[in-house]
Amino acid sequence: MIRLKNINKTYFGAQPLHVLKGIDLEVNEGEMVSIMGASGSGKSTLLNILGILDSYDTGDYHLAGQLVKDLSENKAAEFRNRMIGFIFQSFNLIPFKTAMENVALPLYYQSMTRRKRNMLAMEYLERFGLKEWADHYPNELSGGQKQRVSVARALVTQPKIILADEPTGALDSKTSAEVMQILREVNDSGITMLIVTHEKGIAQRTKKIIRLCDGIIKSVEANDPNAIDLQSDIK
Ligand code: ADP
Ligand code: MG
Repeated sequence: MIRLKNINKTYFGAQPLHVLKGIDLEVNEGEMVSIMGASGSGKSTLLNILGILDSYDTGDYHLAGQLVKDLSENKAAEFRNRMIGFIFQSFNLIPFKTAMENVALPLYYQSMTRRKRNMLAMEYLERFGLKEWADHYPNELSGGQKQRVSVARALVTQPKIILADEPTGALDSKTSAEVMQILREVNDSGITMLIVTHEKGIAQRTKKIIRLCDGIIKSVEANDPNAIDLQSDIK
């Protein structure tokens, strides 16, 4: 599904910063993988490249068999829309739109009537226990509810992959566990899941842990999320 070969990325600021140093990575369809690393290790940069939100300098990135390199803005957007759902630490919900409108928004870019978009958005809100909150604005929702709206928004276009950047970073440990349980269920439904985190308790709830250190993959290990005590603190 995802295949990276020797990916390098440098930010050219006043001081060039070589952030990703020869990343090789393979993620198969249906996997649930976490990318763990300290702050500044390059996790978000890597995820943004995977999500075709940012470019890379050298190497190859194949997504679903297609080489992702120098795609036109339109082609990249279309590919992103069709393949990938995003979840962010800070939710990135639009404050002046209701929960339902936020979830329906990605469908706007597909030719679909408003009626159909809203119906689908309601279905996804209902799936995550948010039916009663459909008409509420983000500032009327708790952190956990906001992240569930984000999950619904990420899924409404039926992507193949979910990319989540510190999805529990703004949540308390109980809510984090709930969100991780939801992501687990989403993965069980067959969607490939990549979760970036600096929290061990989050990584332990995924099935493969990749450790990133100063832009280099240090280790890749299989993990059994059922082996941990679910009552144990997540953070
Ligand atoms: P992480 O998500 O693991 O905390 P990032 O990928 O966000 O790490 O950042 C890796 C390094 O690259 C950091 O030192 C950060 O300051 C730097 N960086 C991130 N984005 C940019 C950018 N757009 N321009 C310049 N430097 C950046
Ligand atoms: Mg980051």
